[in-house]
Amino acid sequence: MNDNKHTFKRYEEGETPNDWDLEDKIFQQDTSYKCPTYVHKTAPCSGSCPSGHDIRGWLAIARGMDKSPVEGQAWQEYAFHKMVEANPFPASMGRVCPAPCESGCNRNEVDDYVGINAVEQYVGDWANENGVKLAEAGADTGYKIAVIGGGPAGLAAAYFMRQDGHAVTVFEANAKLGGMMRYGIPGYRTPRDMLDIEIGRITDMGVQVKLNTKVGVDVSVASLEDEYDAIFWALGAQKGRPLPIKGWEGTENCIDGVEFLDAFNKGWVVGTAQKVVVVGGGDTSIDVASVARRLGHVTNVAKTDHAGGEVIDFTAQDAAGVLTREGMQATLTSLFPIEQMTAAEHEREDAKREGVDIKGSVMPLEVILNAEGRATGLRMCECVMKGNAPEAIEGTEFVIEADIIIAAIGQAGDFEGIDNLGNERGFIDIEAGYKVKGKDKHFAGGDILKPHLLTTAIGHGRVAAETITDYLDDGNIAKRPKIDIASFNLLEELNERGHELSPYEHMGEETRGTDSATYAVHNYEDRSDGQIVKHTELYKGHFPYVAREIRDEVHIEGDNVLGNFEERIIAYSEEQAQKEGERCMSCGMCFECDNCVIYCPQDAVSRVKKNDRTLGRYVETDYSKCIGCHICADVCPTGYIQMGLGG
Ligand SMILES: Cc1cc2nc3c(=O)[nH]c(=O)nc-3n(C[C@H](O)[C@H](O)[C@H](O)COP(=O)(O)OP(=O)(O)OC[C@H]3O[C@@H](n4cnc5c(N)ncnc54)[C@H](O)[C@@H]3O)c2cc1C
Ligand code: SF4
Ligand code: SF4
Repeated sequence: MNDNKHTFKRYEEGETPNDWDLEDKIFQQDTSYKCPTYVHKTAPCSGSCPSGHDIRGWLAIARGMDKSPVEGQAWQEYAFHKMVEANPFPASMGRVCPAPCESGCNRNEVDDYVGINAVEQYVGDWANENGVKLAEAGADTGYKIAVIGGGPAGLAAAYFMRQDGHAVTVFEANAKLGGMMRYGIPGYRTPRDMLDIEIGRITDMGVQVKLNTKVGVDVSVASLEDEYDAIFWALGAQKGRPLPIKGWEGTENCIDGVEFLDAFNKGWVVGTAQKVVVVGGGDTSIDVASVARRLGHVTNVAKTDHAGGEVIDFTAQDAAGVLTREGMQATLTSLFPIEQMTAAEHEREDAKREGVDIKGSVMPLEVILNAEGRATGLRMCECVMKGNAPEAIEGTEFVIEADIIIAAIGQAGDFEGIDNLGNERGFIDIEAGYKVKGKDKHFAGGDILKPHLLTTAIGHGRVAAETITDYLDDGNIAKRPKIDIASFNLLEELNERGHELSPYEHMGEETRGTDSATYAVHNYEDRSDGQIVKHTELYKGHFPYVAREIRDEVHIEGDNVLGNFEERIIAYSEEQAQKEGERCMSCGMCFECDNCVIYCPQDAVSRVKKNDRTLGRYVETDYSKCIGCHICADVCPTGYIQMGLGG
């Protein structure tokens, strides 16, 4: 294989053709390294998306380049169907996913990343507003699968397994589906009407749902094993970790963040506490502090004797929204410096603006208790992080007064009634293909493996659904590709548009090349399951600087936050979504710019006949005319053309 780098630059600085040994550079033994091959690689945005979205694919639709094969279908609907090949929650993702895809986007090397997350929200909202449904379930396979947990991992797995035609039953301990999207993240970030639509689409595919049913308590694992062909454990991490400091254990007004948000999301958080200290630094701690600021505290309300109330000193359920509230002082502390906190930067900035006092590089030492054993403050000191361990700075101790202290320092699984499933850290161990270690028929995914993001849990659900289908077939699970995403597939694209390849018939003679064959796609190679296209492979000079479309946001200042549960993000307009589609550089895939056709001095590159064209099959090369000058590869902006693979 020729390892000389031929991309968009022919010559090293100062080099001329006389410096070249053509034999060495172009012709080697009996292999010609001269002709272009169209090499499909994965774009780094998709490579960085844990749910494995074909982002480049749906941005090509937004741009208007890839048109739906369905006559009259709106581009938004086409894009929605492309999105749900990887992730059935685009409206939710578009709001709260911290978008690792954008950090990975090659456009960062030109000006600024593409607004991927905002386009996802726009398309997800459009689909919700226009009643777009998911495709029907696949033909019945006769297999029955139990999914334990109706959060994003469980719901995604249920959706993909219905696509495969299995009968799916979701067991959910809570009264509603959604997991942390409903009982953790507050409604001003994942609006409940939006959530109901995205979840409803999945259950409409014929998923059986058993609510208020906790496996291990209401249903035994043995009965599930008897009744179902496979079990997918998507329990999430429902238990908050306690603060490992003196005075915490058993103190009534020291609680964890999951408990606090769960109570709030079930309508029970209206407290008398006026000063809250939240210990954390991640998403959960920001949500806790921000919700506390919104709730404020209740004045002049007598304590009720409701069973759920006394846990956290919350006095009443404010169903009618009539209780008088006054502001709540919220302090959030983090071991790490503020800029290194794990919570998304914009969430942190919103919290600060809304009046949360964030203190970075501080560590809790002891809960200060009064004579009745209630917490009245938290003793802390400044610290430096040595790796992941804090080191106290002597002589920097201070006390923050508190009526309630909330720890949001991590979570683990709840294994009530199913203890032999969890490891000593409170999670489930798996083997390849999301199979529970050492247990046939059992699979697991989402936060119960390791708490992370919604998109990660959904990615686990997608891949686990595929491996479960694979397992049901013959009890084995095939090795998964290195880049395990919902990738563009040229053969499927050709089939969808009525350009199926003809079957290969071996005539007993040697077949030389594929340029006139109809059983193969000539000079095309799919390397998307193993290679990501780097920005250095692009001809970036092709792309002028264009500012990113920024989503508008409602900024809530200081005490205006009290009682404000409105959404803060304002979705793109159609025009903005299309503009971002145009900013996408289509890394690793032809985007029909015509550069190769225009610049080829031999007229060896031509457009595929209009009726035969599809995405990824826009140009072809006549190898009998090609002289291996490399100009097409040099001028290809997307890194789709590679020299030296043609035979
Ligand atoms: C406060 C908070 C804020 C977050 N913010 C973000 C964010 O902004 N962006 C982001 O991407 N991620 C965020 N996350 C992380 C994200 O919510 C999780 O990664 C994701 O929800 C995990 O999905 P899951 O399906 O694995 O688990 P969960 O969402 O926890 O769902 C698990 C479900 O299983 C059910 N269950 C558990 N045990 C049983 C049982 N024995 N029987 C039946 N049902 C059971 C539970 O009731 C629950 O409904 C946040 C998490 C929290 C807690
Ligand atoms: S789910 Fe998250 S990482 Fe994936 S495309 Fe959407 S915003 Fe990007
Ligand atoms: S420019 Fe487009 S294809 Fe390339 S990484 Fe960014 S979003 Fe993905």
